[in-house]
Amino acid sequence: MRIDILTIFPEMFDALNYSILSRAQKSKLLEIKTTNIRDFSLDNNKRCDDYSYGGGAGMIMTPQPLFDAISSVKTDRSHIIFMSPKGKTLTQQRVEELAKMDKDLVVVCGHYEGIDERIIELLVDEELSIGDYVLTGGELPAMVLIDAVSRYVPGVLGNDDTTEIETFSNGLLEYPQYTRPYEFKGLTVPDILLSGDHKKVDAWRLEKSLEATKERRPDLYEKYILEHGNPFEKKRKK
Ligand code: SAM
Repeated sequence: MRIDILTIFPEMFDALNYSILSRAQKSKLLEIKTTNIRDFSLDNNKRCDDYSYGGGAGMIMTPQPLFDAISSVKTDRSHIIFMSPKGKTLTQQRVEELAKMDKDLVVVCGHYEGIDERIIELLVDEELSIGDYVLTGGELPAMVLIDAVSRYVPGVLGNDDTTEIETFSNGLLEYPQYTRPYEFKGLTVPDILLSGDHKKVDAWRLEKSLEATKERRPDLYEKYILEHGNPFEKKRKK
């Protein structure tokens, strides 16, 4: 998968050159390229922002450098995403869909008070938010999106990492996880995990997932119960 990032702070994306994403780029599973929007500004001082029509505090990113920068990377395969708190909230489902789309992603990062609306009208396919809060720029949201989508690109995760059994993958929060030592600061690992009985371990994990989801994300819990029911409540009733 190829991902183009359009930003006025390309250096921030050095953070993607570590760990799994670094490995994926070295083995050519992922191609991540940053383009500096400022390089495309026709202004003598390479300015990329101006005052807001209608007044109000804060500057707006001007359309010309953005239009030219996006056009320089756009192809027939591009899916252009603008990171914005006004966008649809990014979900695990959307992450998986984007990874499977067989398109190249172009991710546009806003700054100041945002970008000229005409860029969204002319070029953007989708606006995505990473949550109901406002950040200073689109760079961190873009990195969140790229990290999440990359995990679903075939081959990016090694055998030791999996997207199959984890939080959100089955609509529930993940069960508690333990590793060695058996005892730590007086707390021991639940004995069932050492039993070697995979059926019992799976049942315990599902029960813990349901408990955590009911307590922390009642919205997800209700949805899961409507679709699957709660096997443990059925057993208790009997
Ligand atoms: N004036 C804008 C508003 O009220 O919607 C906020 C602009 S914000 C200070 C600057 C840029 O940061 C945005 O254009 C966007 O690219 C990015 N940004 C901020 N919060 C975000 C979020 N929750 N999700 C995605 N992008 C975000």
